[in-house]
Amino acid sequence: MTDNDFQQAQNELLEWLAIPSISTLPERAPDVRRAAEWLHAKLEGVGFHTQILETTGHPVVYAELLNAAGAPTVLLYGHYDVQPVDPIGEWTSDPFTPVVRDGEIIARGSTDDKGQVYAHVKALEIMLRDRAALPVNLKILIEGEEEIGSPNLEEFVKAQAERLACDVVVISDGSMFAPGVPTLTTGLRGLCYLEVHVQGASKDLHSGGYGGAVANPIQALAQIIQSLRDGNGQILVSGIYDRVRAVPKVELEGWRKLPFSENQFASSVGVDALPGEPNYSVLERLWARPTLEINGIWGGFAGEGKKTVLPAKAGAKISLRLVPDQSPEEIFELVSAHIMALELPGVRVEVVKLGTGPWALVDANSPAAKLALRALERAYPGKDVAFVRSGGSIPVVSVFSQILSAPVLLVDYGLPDDGAHGPDERFTLECFKKGIEVSGYLYEELASLKV
Ligand SMILES: [Zn+2]
Repeated sequence: MTDNDFQQAQNELLEWLAIPSISTLPERAPDVRRAAEWLHAKLEGVGFHTQILETTGHPVVYAELLNAAGAPTVLLYGHYDVQPVDPIGEWTSDPFTPVVRDGEIIARGSTDDKGQVYAHVKALEIMLRDRAALPVNLKILIEGEEEIGSPNLEEFVKAQAERLACDVVVISDGSMFAPGVPTLTTGLRGLCYLEVHVQGASKDLHSGGYGGAVANPIQALAQIIQSLRDGNGQILVSGIYDRVRAVPKVELEGWRKLPFSENQFASSVGVDALPGEPNYSVLERLWARPTLEINGIWGGFAGEGKKTVLPAKAGAKISLRLVPDQSPEEIFELVSAHIMALELPGVRVEVVKLGTGPWALVDANSPAAKLALRALERAYPGKDVAFVRSGGSIPVVSVFSQILSAPVLLVDYGLPDDGAHGPDERFTLECFKKGIEVSGYLYEELASLKV
């Protein structure tokens, strides 16, 4: 890649980033479509056969180039939609007037995920220009609904399974472990999200006239919450750990060697201790252990001053991050049964499932992962590649591995402090450049995947 290529790549990315494709805001729907059209035009120009495919929500940009006879087929997945920009006051420049400042591209979507997608697009463009053919057959699926939970993607992939058939899926939609540390992500946690509703009296009561006689739903909710977890983060729901798979020794040893300081991690979020399950490191707790977190609670009076009320209802949102081999559906049943078995006289309790998502694991020893490793080693000579997991969840990963039966490679180009979803989201020029380089090597290496 020449300096001129990279300058051009920046200019083009800035143009794409200027389109406010916020998928969750109905008034931005025309902009979301404009961002899809922009990418469509770009991919056509590069030489792909490109289509905008409709869903019941935002469209999918689909492109392919299938000229590499006998070579494997790679499916690149990413998304062109972005998060809202609130709190807008915390941005130092306009989120949709992208700027390059101190070696960083500052704009909403810069790292999540337009910048990372564009690193791939640029690498493919340069390959096609310099050698007139790609080393692999390529299919590109860039959706516009990732930031709202990909509500139409599973249906889409099922309906288009034949068209999307591939030997490996590549995704760059996360972050490297640390600056300059080439990273392959090998695991994501699953999710089980639920809500607890506690109903006491049929309406709010006077706490003087009824307190002491009528049950308080907030008190009952507190007992429910208290029963779910102990002070060490251990989940007290029976059976919850039954299917938790131990992390292979060699993987754990790799995690111990990562450049990670628990103290630094604590101070980066402004706390002085990191309480959690004893005998597990912070990284193990983040990547390989299930967690149960209270995401929000409500009930009673929380305004200014006093109101002597005995509230009629209270509730909480609770989510669990899950690890191999936990089943989100089974975990919901266990938590729900645990709560319903508590004896809480005078209140009615209801547990509602809000959503679940599966965990995912990438086999670091698979042929595809080994080729990705080679690509990273070529881009970062002399550096050890970090094999990490992520505490978060990308539900589409299991959609691809299940429906298309193809291994998924998570090769991330962003950095943990890029501010994805937050103010002043950024993508460093260094990451962008390396991303283009790694992408090029990756497609070259994947050409030798046996099919
Ligand atoms: Zn993303």
